[in-house]
Amino acid sequence: MPMHGAMPNSFDPTRVDALEPRARELVTRRRRLLGPGYKLFYEQPIEVVRGEGVHLFDADGNAYLDAYNNVPCVGHCHPHVVEAITRQAGTLNSNTRYLAEPLLDYAERLLATHHDGLGSIMLACSGSEATDLALRIARHASGAKGVVVTANAYHGVTAAAAEVSPSLGANEPLGVHVRTVLPPGPGETDPVAAGDAFALRVEEAIADLHRHGTATAAVLMDTLLSSDGLVPDPPGFLRPVVDAAHAAGALFIADEVQAGFGRTGAAMWGYQRHGIEPDLVTMGKPMGNGVPISGVAARPELLERFGNEVRYFNTFGANSIAVAAATAVLDVIERDDLVAQVGDVGEHLRSGLAGLAREHPALRNVRGAGLYVAADLVDPATGAPDAQATSRVVNGLRERRVLISAAGAAASALKVRPPLPFGHDHADQLLAALADVLADAC
Ligand code: PMP
Repeated sequence: MPMHGAMPNSFDPTRVDALEPRARELVTRRRRLLGPGYKLFYEQPIEVVRGEGVHLFDADGNAYLDAYNNVPCVGHCHPHVVEAITRQAGTLNSNTRYLAEPLLDYAERLLATHHDGLGSIMLACSGSEATDLALRIARHASGAKGVVVTANAYHGVTAAAAEVSPSLGANEPLGVHVRTVLPPGPGETDPVAAGDAFALRVEEAIADLHRHGTATAAVLMDTLLSSDGLVPDPPGFLRPVVDAAHAAGALFIADEVQAGFGRTGAAMWGYQRHGIEPDLVTMGKPMGNGVPISGVAARPELLERFGNEVRYFNTFGANSIAVAAATAVLDVIERDDLVAQVGDVGEHLRSGLAGLAREHPALRNVRGAGLYVAADLVDPATGAPDAQATSRVVNGLRERRVLISAAGAAASALKVRPPLPFGHDHADQLLAALADVLADAC
């Protein structure tokens, strides 16, 4: 996830000479061909050549426990998804200019997982496109331009999405019609008080936009506030925020690119955990288990108006292969009862981390929902965020062939977000490796 300045857990290109010959050659060639834009993970980047379930394999055949990747949500190269993609690729790959029943079946099934008010959906290819489309729909419906987001939000890479993504840092200016608000802090445990205080900040942001001559079209929030360092609790704090948006004539857009598809272990969607009913919901990343597909679910009247008055065609959005992959993902989530499993394993993982935090004063604030778990590393004497210790732990785990990453504005949070079929045994392997690393690194 892009953050202020350097990305957490990114390979430092000035250290290329310290790498093994093969990695050095690939890193140098990549820099020459692709420029400096793409960042690699870890002090020793990994050349991955294969994936299976919750494991990645490097060029030497070593297995790594993948406790980071949420895109292959039902597991790397899941056979049911592979079979669906393969079959569809050999049959037809087309677009929304033609009638196709599988797309309608998928839309029906996906919408049935959402709250009753969301009756229509449009599909695109990336989370960024979904953000872009949701903002266009909201602005078209309201005639307003303003958008309120959280202080370190990330919503994507298109020009419109980058304008509402303060985590991209100072060199990517926020839109003039965008305002940011601080999310609830770790001490705020009462959902009503935390929600009311948060909603007050949203109201102030809306009033500030108004003072600058702009009405507010949307309040846009990731329902796990992932790039803000992961703020899952207390569930319910988004409720007054939705009311504040509606009172101002704005729509509430839930960004489910991170929290969706069962990640929280409490429900299919992060917003359901908060007991809210968004007007628009964006989805992406895990939706096709790695095949690019994203979507915006909406109140039907919103798509009715936008679809009638604005021309929109997305060449690859809802292509047949992507729809086949996305359908297979829903099959696996339902068949394997993954949401319940995620809740169960997530709790086990968090309680193990809390146990480690009791032994290691540098490890604090274990938090999460389902299989999105974070904890901070701090200087035990001062409580200040410790990005260096975080980096040592992330790289120490990588040396032990367990993959996690770092996150947060101070790059001091451990970020654990594995594929959904991560089991108790995988959680135990991660916890044992972490105990070992903490004994060394902190
Ligand atoms: N919203 C959120 C919350 C995200 O985490 C991301 C991706 N990290 C996006 C939107 C953008 O998705 P994509 O990279 O598929 O464009």
